[in-house]
Amino acid sequence: MSTSDTNISGSKEDHIRNTTFIVIDFEWNQPISWIKTSIDPKILPGEIIEIGAVKVSFNEGEWILSKPFHRLIRPVCYTVLNKSVARVINKVSSDLKCGDRFDKAYKEFMSWCGSDFVICGWGNSDLGILKSNLRLHGQNSDIGHPFLDIQSLFSRLAEDSSRQRSVEYAVDFFGITKRQVFHEAHQDAHYTAQILRQLLLLTPSKTDEVHVEETESTLEIVKKFIYDPDLNVKISYNTDLFYTWEKCFSYSQKQELACPACGESLIEELPWFRIKKSAFSVWRCEKHQFIRGRMRMKKNPVGKIYATVDIQLIIPSEIRKVQEKHMEYLEFGAEGKPKEIIEVSLEPEQK
Ligand SMILES: [Zn+2]
Repeated sequence: MSTSDTNISGSKEDHIRNTTFIVIDFEWNQPISWIKTSIDPKILPGEIIEIGAVKVSFNEGEWILSKPFHRLIRPVCYTVLNKSVARVINKVSSDLKCGDRFDKAYKEFMSWCGSDFVICGWGNSDLGILKSNLRLHGQNSDIGHPFLDIQSLFSRLAEDSSRQRSVEYAVDFFGITKRQVFHEAHQDAHYTAQILRQLLLLTPSKTDEVHVEETESTLEIVKKFIYDPDLNVKISYNTDLFYTWEKCFSYSQKQELACPACGESLIEELPWFRIKKSAFSVWRCEKHQFIRGRMRMKKNPVGKIYATVDIQLIIPSEIRKVQEKHMEYLEFGAEGKPKEIIEVSLEPEQK
């Protein structure tokens, strides 16, 4: 079934209540640098060794969770367990000899899913890994169903921030009982499904996002976070050459932009602004919602300036990062926040 069959626009809250959410969690093994493999690790960053999933659907007035789907998979490329993977999942190398072939397990997973559903994950790394594993096994790498990132939905609905939290953090946040260990695919899927259920029942906290009406309900916000993971989401190009950063920016910001997914012209949400050698903007396509423009200006070997421009579909939670940049711009202008008062706030991405 193609994504267009699962059209997410249409009537508001009823549509979300008629949706089956399938929360996935994969565990994957990673390459080991000193073992030669037949495939480039950039093409296959991880090989799936476990599929876990739980369905969340609305039935007789409440959101209910299915029994987990669970399969172990025998890897064909990365057959020795990577130490850093072993540290987080409860497995040893010999465990990788058990399990089904990927093809068989994925086929069974798809028939368990049914035909009309939204795939959900904690962050979108499972999706990238799934696509690379489908390619490895000679299959079409399209997901074919809409996707919802529960991690960014959690940030928006529970904390109204752009911080990336771990599953365990969100489990504690909602006071969900911890019976099973983390980092087994079907257990993590079950925890993440419980988080989704809590989110669907939440009243959203207030937001200062310009485009969001204060009256927006949780289910309307959920709908905005669902997107097509198979869309061509980004176009990049380099501009002409200029003598100064200012000229490069002022010329490049006047270029007409088109939606990277459908090519339609865009509606301006937040016009281009520049901080040092970077510039940002937010746009909207009637069909594909939010799009971020990003410019990075560089010098070529003979000292002339050009910009690399990325036009990319984004989910609503990512707009906040642009707005934070915009606040910096409003306060400090194109020079940006002076170096000595930039706080160190880099957090590692949590899964
Ligand atoms: Zn579009």
